[in-house]
Amino acid sequence: MDVDSDAAPVVGPKPIRKLAADVVNRIAAAEIIHRPSNAVKELVENALDAGSTSIKVTVKEGGLKLLQITDNGHGVNRADLPLLCERYATSKLTKFEDLQAIATFGFRGEALASISYCSHLEVVTKTRADTCGWKAQYADGVLKGDARPTAANDGTTVSAADLFYNMPLRKRAFRSASDEYARILDVVSKYAVHNPHAGWVCKKAGSALPDVSTAAGSTAKANIGLLYTPALAAELLEVEETAFPKLGGKVRGWVSNANSNWARKGGWLLFINNRLVDSSKIKKAIDGLYTTYLPKGASPFVYLALELDPANVDVNVHPTKSEVHFLHEDEVVEAVVAAVEKTLAGANTSRTFTVQTMLPGADALDKRERERDAPRAKAAPNYKVRMDPTNRTLDSMITVVAPSQISHERPAKRRIIDPSADVVLADDDTPLWNAREEGRDAPESECDFTSIQELRGAVRKRASPDLTETIAKHAFVGLVDRTMCLSLIQHQTRLLLVNHAAMGDEHFYQLGLRQFGAFGRLKLEPAPKLEDLLRIAAEDEPLAEHGLAVDEVVAKCTALLLSKADMIDEYFSLSFAEGEVRSLPILLKGYTPNLDRLPHLLLCLATRVDWEDEKDCFESVLRELAFFYSPRPFDDEDEDEDAEEAAHQAWQLEHVLFPSFRRTQWPRSMSTDVSQVANLPDLFRVFERC
Ligand code: ADP
Ligand code: MG
Repeated sequence: MDVDSDAAPVVGPKPIRKLAADVVNRIAAAEIIHRPSNAVKELVENALDAGSTSIKVTVKEGGLKLLQITDNGHGVNRADLPLLCERYATSKLTKFEDLQAIATFGFRGEALASISYCSHLEVVTKTRADTCGWKAQYADGVLKGDARPTAANDGTTVSAADLFYNMPLRKRAFRSASDEYARILDVVSKYAVHNPHAGWVCKKAGSALPDVSTAAGSTAKANIGLLYTPALAAELLEVEETAFPKLGGKVRGWVSNANSNWARKGGWLLFINNRLVDSSKIKKAIDGLYTTYLPKGASPFVYLALELDPANVDVNVHPTKSEVHFLHEDEVVEAVVAAVEKTLAGANTSRTFTVQTMLPGADALDKRERERDAPRAKAAPNYKVRMDPTNRTLDSMITVVAPSQISHERPAKRRIIDPSADVVLADDDTPLWNAREEGRDAPESECDFTSIQELRGAVRKRASPDLTETIAKHAFVGLVDRTMCLSLIQHQTRLLLVNHAAMGDEHFYQLGLRQFGAFGRLKLEPAPKLEDLLRIAAEDEPLAEHGLAVDEVVAKCTALLLSKADMIDEYFSLSFAEGEVRSLPILLKGYTPNLDRLPHLLLCLATRVDWEDEKDCFESVLRELAFFYSPRPFDDEDEDEDAEEAAHQAWQLEHVLFPSFRRTQWPRSMSTDVSQVANLPDLFRVFERC
């Protein structure tokens, strides 16, 4: 009887048949790799396991077309390449006793195998000992042919192309590439926070600007500032490492304080034994704790890193089930909640002062105190840059967002701009400069103009070795007054009050001069119209008093700048293509200028630059750019609205600008902007008398 025929009724049970091995494997693979972001998580974990300090993720069409993870880890031995994608092949366990670790760390040798069953997988790898790299392609767990020699850097690049090409149903289930990309960004951001020792990049293939970009050797807090918001980072409280020895575990982390509302998704980062996991029990308990502090509906930002004795983690956990269970769950949850509660309670009783106390050994200062007391700012949903000096906001024209600040609901609508890119790419995607290789500042560009060489020579000539040395070895103490642009720094036993705006002017001028003709680009999207910006600036000037009409000034300035557009674009990466301001030069990675002042910059370029004399022209454009980039007195009037901007600027000042001041050659004339306010030995003498 033909039991498969539609017509015939089924009389008895169908015979049991074994599924073909490749079907079994494909089903198993689909269980492990639900979606592109799962694959990213596995591949990124492998890169970390290989001891990498640089991990770069490139994504095409939300990962469905291509996922590529490049690391600089120890690589794979050529002899092991045939085994690499075989199920249950792993280099991380050898003996039966390691079994417990399987559950904890997910070392089951299944990830690469799974990915090879549902994509076209290629691995290029080179160990330190290899003289050349090896390229290997896999299908269904098996190495296709032989590995071929190829040029490669130390480390491994895993490329998974056409994910789910053989599972059309699964593939169709993905709503949008941007949704998947947002999930990938989320995973990479979280791993970057938890593994700040490594430098991370995540970008779309073909895009010049990465959406995640962190430097190696950073800190969890700094990465939260970079990848979430600076305002959030400024408010974070450290959960100091707390051990619960009876349970064989400990916890540490960073959490938002009781005043802030982190309303966005993705504010929950839980790592257990270095794997990103969910634990609904822990989440519920922490959320419960915050309800006593936060208004209804508000949610906290929580990053917790838990370490538990592998023996206590449920051995049956499946690597894909990110929800974990562990022994003594209630006690562990209780201990974690207690640690966070202590942190929150401690923060609420602290005193308020914005400048930290100075004692010998600036390093030993109680950093936490300062972080707690950093200016409070509300965590607004996006870091929008307002560009308008006259209260006509330009939000509608430009939104600059840091990578992870894009709302996960609508990622596609926003162009993500990351000024902190470590690798600066030219328009054709070739790297111009790599921060990790070159140190933090860009190298001097090659330039044949005598005028530029003269200007560079002048910088060297007027440098004061003493002042340069002092700033190179300073420790930042605190922002003293933002309306007067004063900050306090320490050099050896001296306390110095400096004008950071004046320093910024010189610093950005030198940065501009160094990178002349070779700037990275900060793209503005949607790009505002040059004419509109000039109008905003012109309306702010008392033109009528001088018998000038706004329209006329705007028209003249627009025409002038457009007539110089090619030159301005080529040398300064400031693009006015089609009458729109499409890009600005990146003078310093990780630093965003206050775009409120962009209209003013454009008006100054049009009215204050002598376009006839080459040297004058270059120098004055660079000076205007520097003035635009440099911090300016902050207007406190609009305090409520600007709290976030203020917090952002304070953060940039401390974490980006002052560190980079260390590498400038300070001219003698700057000495007036740096004055000694105290000498610590003298201060101690004063205190001794008290
Ligand atoms: P597991 O990580 O559980 O061992 P995987 O399938 O993820 O299993 O990886 C299999 C093996 O391939 C690893 O044990 C490791 O030896 C090797 N491997 C995978 N990715 C990398 C990498 N990026 N660098 C070096 N070795 C790697
Ligand atoms: Mg793995």
